[in-house]
Amino acid sequence: MTGHMTPEEFRAHGHRAVDWIADYLAGIESHPVRSRVRPGEVRSALPEHPPERGEPFDAVLADLDRVLLPGVTHWQHPSFFAYFPANASGPGILGDLLSAGLGVQGMVWATSPACTELETVVVDWLAELLGLPKAFRTDAAGGGVIQDSASSASLVALIAALRRAGGGVVADRGIAGHYRLYVSSQTHSSLEKAARVTGIGAANVRLVDVDPDTLAMDSAHLRRLLAEDRAAGAVPAMVCATVGTTSTAAVDPVPEIGAVCREHGVWLHVDAAYAGVAAVCPELRWIDDGVAEYADSYATNPHKWLLTNFDCTVLWLADRAPMIDALSILPEYLRNPATTSGEVIDYRDWQVPLGRRFRALKLWAVLRWYGAEGLRAHIRTGVALAAELAELVAADPAFELWRPQRFGLVCFRPLWPGLPDAEADAATMALLEWLNDSGDLYLSHTKVPVGHERVLLRMAIGAPATERRHVLAAWERIRAGYALTARERGVPVRSR
Ligand SMILES: *Cc1c(COP(=O)(O)O)cnc(C)c1O
Repeated sequence: MTGHMTPEEFRAHGHRAVDWIADYLAGIESHPVRSRVRPGEVRSALPEHPPERGEPFDAVLADLDRVLLPGVTHWQHPSFFAYFPANASGPGILGDLLSAGLGVQGMVWATSPACTELETVVVDWLAELLGLPKAFRTDAAGGGVIQDSASSASLVALIAALRRAGGGVVADRGIAGHYRLYVSSQTHSSLEKAARVTGIGAANVRLVDVDPDTLAMDSAHLRRLLAEDRAAGAVPAMVCATVGTTSTAAVDPVPEIGAVCREHGVWLHVDAAYAGVAAVCPELRWIDDGVAEYADSYATNPHKWLLTNFDCTVLWLADRAPMIDALSILPEYLRNPATTSGEVIDYRDWQVPLGRRFRALKLWAVLRWYGAEGLRAHIRTGVALAAELAELVAADPAFELWRPQRFGLVCFRPLWPGLPDAEADAATMALLEWLNDSGDLYLSHTKVPVGHERVLLRMAIGAPATERRHVLAAWERIRAGYALTARERGVPVRSR
């Protein structure tokens, strides 16, 4: 153990590691969904100092079982319904393993041509599978690129938008605080972060009103804000519309917002991190409405609901030029004939970091293993189970379903007759903790502005292992927990 692992040692340990993963996935239901460790518990079970002498790899696997596994929350558990899914799949895991095995740094074409060219093929394939516009294909003016996260995709989109809004000024001389970014209260927090990082500043993020019933962005208010800001001498840099918001999966009206952006010549970014992949199903392709006509950039996360291990976000642009103008830097040590010839893509100009992993391998493995059919079947399972759960919630007088219910997400609220709003929300949160402490399922919550902020429970269905029985069992647990909490708080139970 004092030297490198030989290929034969790797083969033996690798087989054990793959067996470990297969056993883990086969037995995943034996674990509590949410980890029960207390803060510091994992850390204190690990040695304070690094080993001086190498240890056998089996010791690592043993500690994985003994120390780490209790501190793991099981995102692939069929009863994991919190946040959004983070799909892993056999082909996704193996694609990531192969990428690790190759250990490639794909910063420019010349550092591994296959890393770049496979990525070009799979992002074009995915654009076709999702019915995204021809302009997003690499052979047109635009193109797609794999990013680590939707947050990075938003940041790159904003950098490109600033470049276009400010001519050469943004990258060359900084920004003088007069750019504006337009989002709604429902937009993901990564957009505000992008405004901070780019120097636009959080104070220059404008909040567009939402429709109180659907929580979708109000395009008329957007038009007024743009006109106001223009009149005051500010430069609108970008509008972010969301298809499937993080809180309730609300859908902003992209065609209307796009028309307003067009009037004002403002960059439109569409954040479809969670829901975008649903367009693989023709019956859900309405979510692409307005994208072909108006979107300058568009991002979705195969690592959420399309069976591809984290990390894998795809960002597409209708015109790649402003992004490349803003981000391309060619130091002498990266100069090479292929780059100079202009015949190749160097994806380091399409992202903030220089180095990049061979992420295309896992997406390629997933698209080939499942085929379009398999991907559609996965999305349809989540949508159908969510619709069935929504009907159960709507039929139960003790609960209120949040509508519109969309995709694989069901939001709802237990009713606590007689309790003032603040106490009712506290009861909802107590119920949530009771459920999550049980280890049998894991839900999360959000707050929605209905007059004032109210708590909703969120149940996101979309883990590959989730079957109807898991959803029905979760619903029974929720009803049982509700009855218990209601009794404790002296609320008359109205459940059927
Ligand atoms: C999850 C989510 C994000 C952030 O995704 P990351 O890939 O974790 O950065 C952004 N926008 C929306 C709408 C999301 O749901």
